[in-house]
Amino acid sequence: MSAYDFDLFVIGGGSGGVRAARLAGERGARVAIAEEDKVGGTCVLRGCVPKKLFVTAAHFAEAFEDSVGFGWSTKGLKFDWPTLRDNVQKDVEWLSGIYVRNLERAGVTIVKSRAVLEDRHRINLLAENRTVTAATVIVATGGRPWRDLSVPGIELAITSNEVFHLDRLPKRLLVVGGGYIAVEFAGVFNGLGVDTTVLYRGEEILRPFDGDIRKTVHAGMEHRGVAIRCGDTIAAIEKVKGGLVATTRKGERIEADVILSATGRHPNTENMGLEAAGVTLDKKGAIVVDEYLRTSADNIYAVGDVTDRLLLTPVAIREGAAVIETVFGGRPTKLDYADIPTAVFSQPEVGTVGLSEEAAKRVCPAIDIYRTTFKPLPNRVAGRDERMMMKLVVDAESDRVLGCHIVGPQAGEMAQLLGIAVKLGATKADFDATVAIHPTMAEEIVTISKPAEQYRREAAE
Ligand SMILES: Cc1cc2nc3c(=O)[nH]c(=O)nc-3n(C[C@H](O)[C@H](O)[C@H](O)COP(=O)(O)OP(=O)(O)OC[C@H]3O[C@@H](n4cnc5c(N)ncnc54)[C@H](O)[C@@H]3O)c2cc1C
Repeated sequence: MSAYDFDLFVIGGGSGGVRAARLAGERGARVAIAEEDKVGGTCVLRGCVPKKLFVTAAHFAEAFEDSVGFGWSTKGLKFDWPTLRDNVQKDVEWLSGIYVRNLERAGVTIVKSRAVLEDRHRINLLAENRTVTAATVIVATGGRPWRDLSVPGIELAITSNEVFHLDRLPKRLLVVGGGYIAVEFAGVFNGLGVDTTVLYRGEEILRPFDGDIRKTVHAGMEHRGVAIRCGDTIAAIEKVKGGLVATTRKGERIEADVILSATGRHPNTENMGLEAAGVTLDKKGAIVVDEYLRTSADNIYAVGDVTDRLLLTPVAIREGAAVIETVFGGRPTKLDYADIPTAVFSQPEVGTVGLSEEAAKRVCPAIDIYRTTFKPLPNRVAGRDERMMMKLVVDAESDRVLGCHIVGPQAGEMAQLLGIAVKLGATKADFDATVAIHPTMAEEIVTISKPAEQYRREAAE
């Protein structure tokens, strides 16, 4: 038995921390985890889970609209915000409880406290005013919404932390930001009948995504009634009678009842004793790790959003598991970050895996682009004037499918499965050899016969 109180101490009970603690506990290690809020972290309490439930609520609006063409009558439909808000809260509390029980079952000691490092092995538990020691430490403290404090009145804006708890549904919402969180909440509130505007300083929303995804989502959101202003951002917020007014850099005044600031996230590394423990941070304050997620202090690891790389729950979970395999499994394990599928639960929805067209052109000299847009079968009867977009980015030399990009219903579900094919190195010929399932939307991905565009670097130069 080691001289330390614990074999492993995990700071932060979110996606990455909980997975690491549980796996180490199941291996028989003496493990403790400190969480200053509720166990579950961002994903469970103020991220993926409540967000997806809100997205589901917003989708009903479209489903009811579409149902009329199929013979349904929707007169008298009403939406009640407190019912949604409170039921979602109940669900996330329940989920947090499951996390606690799973940790307990694995023999993990849960400490309800903020934890701060005193040195590489000593952890101070503020709420209990005591210090414990551990052989290995994992920092999994996640991140929090970033707000531009140079904007006068920014404190009048809420962030994604508060959006799930609003007293009442606003009539007018201004969302500042153009990333996936901004775009998703704009879709949610617009779907719930809120007059919604997105204000984004860049040229086009959803910056790291494929250009066709960005354009198609932009058009689809506007089609649903979201006003999108790109190339401008917020300069000041004032309280006025009956609400708030945002003044933009270009001098526009946008009135709103609620302003949601969704302009990025910041890693939680302040006042945690990381410097005292010899843990190096980058310029943004994120923990610097090597490929095995080890920090500059060799017994301290960091997983998830606190390293500010791919801010996704499954990544945090896999990283937590990788560290446990490295430290307690005797098998140094690193994560393969290539071709991680992801979704944006916007309206219309995005599913994507692999390289965007723009990224592929940077790394491959010859690219074929296969693209199709089509009206999904139900849209015709529903009278919904919207087309779905599917796109394959193919390396013309090897025929390998480098990227799949989808905008439309169930795009996230499709991307998860396409992710397997891309990860396995499937070629366009493999897609062509796969027989379609008819009638589905997904069948279109195996029936695109001709490239829409062919990029050849020599010709472009
Ligand atoms: C609105 C929103 C929607 C999202 N949607 C998705 C999605 O659809 N899909 C997806 O994959 N990802 C999504 N994410 C991202 C996802 O939530 C994060 O990537 C994931 O939660 C990161 O897990 P983590 O363990 O690194 O950190 P977190 O889950 O943030 O957990 C960190 C925990 O550490 C605790 N903590 C911090 N400091 C201390 C301390 N000193 N002592 C004790 N405890 C401390 C915090 O209270 C927190 O509970 C979303 C995020 C947001 C904000």
